[in-house]
Amino acid sequence: MSKFFISIKFGGTSMGSAESIIDCAKIIKEKLKKYSLVVTVSAVAGVTNELQAFINLAKKQKPRRVRARIAALKKQHEDILKKLVPQNELEHIWQQDFLPLFSKLETILVGTSLVGDTTPKTEARILSFGEKLSSHLMAQALNKLGIANKRIESEKIIKTDSLYLEANVKFKATNIACRKVIKPLLTKKIVPVVTGFIGKDTHGNTTLLGRGGSDYTASILAIGIDAQKIEIWTDVNGIMSTDPKIVPNAISWPILDMGTVAEMAYSGARVIHPKSITAAINKNIPVYILNTFNQDFPGTKVTLQKIDGIKGIIASQNHTVLNIENPNMLEAVGFLATLTKTAQEHNISIDVCATSETTFTFSIKSKDYSSKFLKNLRQLANVVVLKNIAKISIIGDDITNNTKLLADIFTIFARNQITIHALSIGASTNNITILIADNHREKTLKLLHQKLIG
Ligand code: ADP
Ligand code: ASP
Ligand code: MG
Repeated sequence: MSKFFISIKFGGTSMGSAESIIDCAKIIKEKLKKYSLVVTVSAVAGVTNELQAFINLAKKQKPRRVRARIAALKKQHEDILKKLVPQNELEHIWQQDFLPLFSKLETILVGTSLVGDTTPKTEARILSFGEKLSSHLMAQALNKLGIANKRIESEKIIKTDSLYLEANVKFKATNIACRKVIKPLLTKKIVPVVTGFIGKDTHGNTTLLGRGGSDYTASILAIGIDAQKIEIWTDVNGIMSTDPKIVPNAISWPILDMGTVAEMAYSGARVIHPKSITAAINKNIPVYILNTFNQDFPGTKVTLQKIDGIKGIIASQNHTVLNIENPNMLEAVGFLATLTKTAQEHNISIDVCATSETTFTFSIKSKDYSSKFLKNLRQLANVVVLKNIAKISIIGDDITNNTKLLADIFTIFARNQITIHALSIGASTNNITILIADNHREKTLKLLHQKLIG
């Protein structure tokens, strides 16, 4: 056994076809020459979204449509499996590993369709099936290459609280489980193949780590086994200056510091789950972001070493702005306290805020907005609601004192007549955040990228 452990994770696109799953297995084979490793997998590309669509159909009490779409999901997995296992073993493997999962999924969804209602607990259970299925595919790809492996459902290892869809990890219990379940396998040169995204609460219920949470699983496992590094294999050349799907000439950074990356991730850069970076920061474990489809590219190394300059122009969608207007606001001692308490009562987290003498503007995630919240706010003050808001964050170490940069940014907004609905500069020195209408998002991203990164 190598004394160097690494935690390696393959994302949805990497798990998207038999060919790319085999590529991932080949990457694992190569790494095994130098390291002992634990592997985390995401669901096959698009599957978690599809499971979410099933939940939405079940809520509308459409069991027949749910059944038809489960049949398509079955076919998708069977088509991949066919290319990974010998023809004469296919039927047996399908019956033994896959069909029981599909019939459980169908039972839960059809039951839910009858009631027409779900709870977060049931939703977490349904959404967990993607990784349960994909981990069997990875195990078969490793078998094909003759690599000893053991599939592990992460409920066995990752212990959380009962916030079903976005659970908090209980690290003490999780680390103990890692040492008990994962380490002995590494000693025996068996590769653990762990389902990303999933945990379990103290009552034995399935919980989730939030969308995109498989990255976090890889970090949690890395902490549990004292890994030397974490590798996140995805479909782009590392962490880039902006989303390359919107700005094709985005730059890939060879090295970034963890603080900047955490800020990028929390601001909405989907390439890495924010908690996976904060977990790595705490233990000073370097994270590498690599491209399964361009394996020779060195990707991005994320370390504690500080790096200067603007590193990210990040957009995130689905925000709602609330403009609170009260002429007596400043004299009214405790006004803001009452307001934030109202948000707390609705379990809403306030994101960007700005104040003037008589107005307080803040943004929340659109999914948290409700007419009941608005009604309660209107008991305190006049409220104007702006929906379909995008948040643009310009990120880099110590950028907020750079007046030339601020001038460049505002010139772009002025010249292109893009209204700023709220602005936050200086709350931290590495992030300038601007809220704009979502229909200006792509254009703004391109203009800012062109000017500030080039
Ligand atoms: P995976 O399934 O491998 O976890 P994700 O879809 O979650 O992959 O994340 C990768 C995607 O993140 C990329 O395809 C890219 O479109 C998007 N992305 C957004 N912002 C960035 C950024 N700053 N750098 C790289 N990719 C980004
Ligand atoms: N499959 C989950 C999602 O799509 C977790 C992940 O891919 O990281 O959110
Ligand atoms: Mg992801």
